[in-house]
Amino acid sequence: MEVADGVSVADVANRIGSGLARAAVAARLNGKLVDLSTFLGPDGPYDLEILTDKSDQALSILRHSTGHIMAAAVRRLYGNVKFGIGPAIENGFYYDFDLPQRLTDEDLAKIEAEMARIVKEAAPFVREEVPLDVAEALMRSAGQDYKLELLREIAAAGAAAGEDVAQADARPAPEADQRVSLYRTADFVDLCRGPHVPHAGKVPAFKLLTVAGSYWRGDSTRPMLQRIYGTAFFSKKALDEHLARLEEAKKRDHRRIGKDLDLFSFHDEGPGFAFMHPAGMIVLNEMLEFWRRIHREAGYVEIRTPTILSEALWHRSGHWDNYREAMYFTEIDKATYAVKPMNCPGGLLVYLNRPHSYRELPIRMAELGLVHRHEKSGVLHGLLRVRQFTQDDAHIYCLPEQLQDEVIGVITLVDRIYRTFGFTDVRVELSTRPEHSIGTDEMWEHATGALRGALGARQMTYKVNEGEGAFYAPKIDYHIRDCLGRSWQCGTIQVDLAMPERFNLTYVGEDNREHRPAMIHRAILGSIERFLGILIEHYGGNFPLWLAPVQAAVLPVSDRFNAYAGGVMQALGAANLRAELDDSSDKVGAKIRRAALGKIPYMLIVGEKEAAAGTVSVRDKAAGDLGALSVEAFVGRAREEVETKRLRPQAQGPA
Ligand SMILES: [Zn+2]
Ligand SMILES: [Zn+2]
Repeated sequence: MEVADGVSVADVANRIGSGLARAAVAARLNGKLVDLSTFLGPDGPYDLEILTDKSDQALSILRHSTGHIMAAAVRRLYGNVKFGIGPAIENGFYYDFDLPQRLTDEDLAKIEAEMARIVKEAAPFVREEVPLDVAEALMRSAGQDYKLELLREIAAAGAAAGEDVAQADARPAPEADQRVSLYRTADFVDLCRGPHVPHAGKVPAFKLLTVAGSYWRGDSTRPMLQRIYGTAFFSKKALDEHLARLEEAKKRDHRRIGKDLDLFSFHDEGPGFAFMHPAGMIVLNEMLEFWRRIHREAGYVEIRTPTILSEALWHRSGHWDNYREAMYFTEIDKATYAVKPMNCPGGLLVYLNRPHSYRELPIRMAELGLVHRHEKSGVLHGLLRVRQFTQDDAHIYCLPEQLQDEVIGVITLVDRIYRTFGFTDVRVELSTRPEHSIGTDEMWEHATGALRGALGARQMTYKVNEGEGAFYAPKIDYHIRDCLGRSWQCGTIQVDLAMPERFNLTYVGEDNREHRPAMIHRAILGSIERFLGILIEHYGGNFPLWLAPVQAAVLPVSDRFNAYAGGVMQALGAANLRAELDDSSDKVGAKIRRAALGKIPYMLIVGEKEAAAGTVSVRDKAAGDLGALSVEAFVGRAREEVETKRLRPQAQGPA
């Protein structure tokens, strides 16, 4: 389309059609996201894409814009506010505020009402580009210390890079005159690169969710701000569906279920380090027993390497240069040691311990390795984000020509493990060579070809992330989707091109000479603690029988039947079933409620009739009453459910 100089993106949308103009939210101009009000200058041709409410990008622009509206409302209501940052995040947005009073749920309702007024006013988002010093003067006079800090960083980055980092404008800003963009909504002025919706009236459905403390920049030595989380959608219906999912997620929050079922806890004495309780250990150990068995079957051997290893090793592995910030250090005999953040260097020492012949390869060496990685305190989140966890790691050393088959083997294993836990909606991504990388073209082609070939052989559909591999490895990543539709990155398969060189790995070939083996790193569950957290939420605490901490509750209807119940307990114990006897003096109704709250899969109720007939009345938490079964019949049924690792119906979707 040919347009006159000075025509805006909105004008172009209008010329294409009034429907498009109405649905337009923002645009992508020469690859950059811009406002609809952006003018097309004389420097065409332009590559222009109008983003409507159908695009994910538009949704995140809507949400971010709603963050500005929230900030404007907070400013109107509370006056003396210092503003932090307010980005869009997955599923919503937040804004950080520094204000004297503590915000409560009533405040959220008040802020929502004020936001609704701003939406009704259809307050425009007005973009203004000003020199950095003008923005600084404005923020200083407004007492906006956090914005001043951001401006100082922009200035420093701009000076270093010689370019304007804050700009999203299609035209480059003139050099030396560093400019930043400000956006005005109602009477709130924010430092922001944009883009935004053209006016507040474009926000059809929003909701504020929670307020939580949050350190400025996630740093516990900086001030604690108040972060309000909210979300926005293009329709009321989409918002309502999302809120229903959130409600379900809240019920399934692993931290809450972990407490209710006494699975684990966290303490100030070890921030980010989980304390696993007896019930939690039962689940973890069952997971690991299964994991070990299936790995043995797949030809893996298991090793264990030390948690603390000398600093020199981490220099050699490259972790010192690339990963030091996330590592913990300690001292032994006046020498520095590191607490391992990864298992590979230790594993490599095991491989290097003696020479290897081509006949031994592939060697599949697994390690359930306890690693420590520093995370800022602000991002710790129950079991899902911890500082200490067990990786279900393995390293495969093989002949270069075995690489593809080995990857196929890993893919098969991943598939089997995820299915067993009930994850069938799995997304796979292949990340290829990044711009900055080590190794030759030939090495990359061979490694990436093996990954592609393996995915092809297993007829997997996958997305390619061009150039997003690690600098030393192309990789396959797995994302599993839980029953609430949330996606979790868990498994990874990487072909390492660096470590075999750095550690001078060799094997003796058929020709009696030394050669370099190929090396695969892979994890399937990722962190077993995190995977447990995901499982708890996926199952809503209703574990399949094989994982349930208590598999059956034996409930005598009165203490006259405690002796018979004791016999049932013995039979269950002999069949290696985990059972609990409730011989309290409570009424059976209370016992049933308690067992239900404990999410125990089976309740076995015993009274006069059962004691006389040698039966139990079975209530399945998922399927309801099963009637009376002989003790042997129940044991057989339960054993079969355990051995086949059958999933319970609760795992299929929200209740
Ligand atoms: Zn903004
Ligand atoms: Zn590794």
